[in-house]
Amino acid sequence: MAATVIDGKAFAATVRAKVAGHVARLKEEHGITPGLAVVLVGEDPASQVYVRSKGKQTVEVGMKSVEHKLDASTSEADLLALIDQLNNDPEIHGILVQLPLPKHLDEDLVINSINPAKDVDGFHISNVGLLSTGQKSMVPCTPLGCLMMLRDHHGSLSGMDAVVIGRSNIVGKPMAQLLLGDSCTVTIAHSRTKNIEEVVRRADIVVAAVGRPEMVPGDWMKPGATVIDVGINRIERDGKNKLVGDVDFASASEVAGAITPVPGGVGPMTIACLLANTVTACARANGLPEPEGLTA
Ligand code: NDP
Repeated sequence: MAATVIDGKAFAATVRAKVAGHVARLKEEHGITPGLAVVLVGEDPASQVYVRSKGKQTVEVGMKSVEHKLDASTSEADLLALIDQLNNDPEIHGILVQLPLPKHLDEDLVINSINPAKDVDGFHISNVGLLSTGQKSMVPCTPLGCLMMLRDHHGSLSGMDAVVIGRSNIVGKPMAQLLLGDSCTVTIAHSRTKNIEEVVRRADIVVAAVGRPEMVPGDWMKPGATVIDVGINRIERDGKNKLVGDVDFASASEVAGAITPVPGGVGPMTIACLLANTVTACARANGLPEPEGLTA
């Protein structure tokens, strides 16, 4: 039986519409415009595309968008000074430093210099700690998007067996924390996991965040499982460039109950969740109720 395809593009549009509604209310009722600052250091082409797309969508939902484009040779002191300025700017509620940074800059130092309340990427060590202890935090955008899609599809996730493949700080680990927070029984698999097929086959929910094209085939899946494919891999097939996930969509969609496609699954949710985090940060900064359905 063919799986239900979870349409991340359509779902992201509903998240952006919710964000736009909250932004309009913040403006009308409180005279506040949420503001997002994105800092890009250097000329990385993929980063430039992401930053443009973030800026465009920020404006589309009615928020203020500020972009700081710095030269690749910017010193750490100058970057930290800019972050300090944004930390103290009352019109800026979210700060995102586009990664990766040029090699001479210490990523951890830079990320941990962002005010945690404005850390809309959720990478600051304080937010990592708050998430892992089940406290209110800023949640990394990609795992938040995955969680929203899972909740939308299943309602409650309580008691489900979940396997997250990948243990990175930006996807795998926070994803596992979020699933644990929703009372799943969570296994994290990685490159050293033994008998990974058997581990995956136990799962009601599979989140693949590996970065290996089509690594996870359908015959690793429990029939009816829900599969969230985070991977974005560029490959060449039949002489054409193609984007594929970490899951082999063709075989997996024969076995799974529901599956996200690549492209059009997790990808569009990531920026939508960045906007959701910014409006949440703005509400918190002003002591206002948090927007419903946009946080973990
Ligand atoms: P990382 O490279 O940081 O982490 C990859 C993880 O996969 C590691 O934990 C690694 O294990 C594990 N892994 C590697 N090979 C295997 C294997 N053979 N079996 C099991 N596990 C393996 O990647 P990210 O987490 O940053 O990204 C993962 C994917 O998600 C990429 O394709 C990336 O492009 C995509 N992505 C998509 C986003 C979106 O918006 N949709 C956002 C962010 C990422 P180990 O730790 O043992 O090395």
